[in-house]
Amino acid sequence: MRKLLVLIALLFIPVGLAAKEGPRPVTVLVGIDGFRADYLERGHTPRLAALAKAGATGPMRPSFPTKTFPNHFALVTGYRPDRNGIVGNSMIDPRRPGVMFSLGNASQALDPFWWNEAEPVWITAEKAGLRTATMFWPGSEVAIQSRRPSDWMRFDQNVTNVQRVNTLLDWLRRPASLRPAFATVYFDTVDTAGHRFGPDSAEVNAALAEVDARVGELVDGAAKMGVAVNWVIVADHGMRQTDEARVIQLDDLIDRASTIVVEGGPYAAIEPAAGTDNRVADALLKPHAHMTCARKEDLPERLHYGRNPRVAAIICIAEPGWTILSGPAPYPVTGGAHGYDNADPDMLALFVASGPAFAKGATLPVFDNVAVAALLRAVLGLPEDAAADGKLADVRGALRR
Ligand code: AMP
Ligand code: ZN
Ligand code: ZN
Repeated sequence: MRKLLVLIALLFIPVGLAAKEGPRPVTVLVGIDGFRADYLERGHTPRLAALAKAGATGPMRPSFPTKTFPNHFALVTGYRPDRNGIVGNSMIDPRRPGVMFSLGNASQALDPFWWNEAEPVWITAEKAGLRTATMFWPGSEVAIQSRRPSDWMRFDQNVTNVQRVNTLLDWLRRPASLRPAFATVYFDTVDTAGHRFGPDSAEVNAALAEVDARVGELVDGAAKMGVAVNWVIVADHGMRQTDEARVIQLDDLIDRASTIVVEGGPYAAIEPAAGTDNRVADALLKPHAHMTCARKEDLPERLHYGRNPRVAAIICIAEPGWTILSGPAPYPVTGGAHGYDNADPDMLALFVASGPAFAKGATLPVFDNVAVAALLRAVLGLPEDAAADGKLADVRGALRR
């Protein structure tokens, strides 16, 4: 009888231990496009608020320009746009004359040429033997260094937030050997509502509530499966109210044929059409109401911007709330926008880190978003990249001691 009891005990102890330790936590990076830091205080996001309370949170400073692609890539590489190569949502490169990169131009946006200047964390993780999976993240569908995450999806805005959540949950449900160690999911609806209706609209509040419900489904779904998750929930930038009465028209300063306006809106990237055209510089490099222009080499150091050959010759930054246009607006000006100086408090972005790896109830002072890559590496057990712009020291307070 005693022998039998010992045998039964031996049989059960390892199982018991395994159940107690549980599988290795998965790190999930959630990107909520355009979720301004202070949206968290509005009362429409109880699930995010609960994660923040149980974890670490704080306002996060985006990199300049405060646009989607440059900041999504800064978050996962630890390099600011000037060094990660994604210097704008639209950009040009003297090594590719006559061609423009833009979000909607798949032939360029999916070409590794534009993305090979920095290594995203999913590549570092895959190289280290960790499986990764991305349910959308700018750059994750591109064969950077000829590699992609083990699971990835071609971006399609029509894939609903519910579908995105269910895809991620399906990945977490896999047996441990096939389950990703690192995964991402991306939601664009808060940004879209912010652009169309402005940051203070009922539509933004509804989008916040909807995305919060999806985050809740992720958290509940993982808990139900018994999969521990380190959640890192971030935004790329904030949002600011704009209107038609606050427009700077470049046509009033220089004839349109003389310039290539690579990007317009809250900031403008302007290249003289004829490389040596001093008239463009003369027209722009002087004081203007509601806009500051500088040659890229003369931008303030705090912007960390202008050394990359992809940055256009002249960068103009609108006063927060103003819009720089070249001719008719390509989209309605009234609503919300981002792209301003990253010192604008309305550009501050959401940051929440919650899970077994993170401090409980920590509030961080404002930090630069490039530190997120260092945090992800630390949680995944990957070495810190000493050459990166983002330092783990800036977010160490988010880690459990
Ligand atoms: P922005 O113009 O900076 O507001 O960019 C936000 C938009 O980028 C979203 O509305 C998405 O439709 C779009 N977007 C996000 N991820 C991708 C992607 N991987 N490929 C193409 N477009 C994207
Ligand atoms: Zn964005
Ligand atoms: Zn946007």
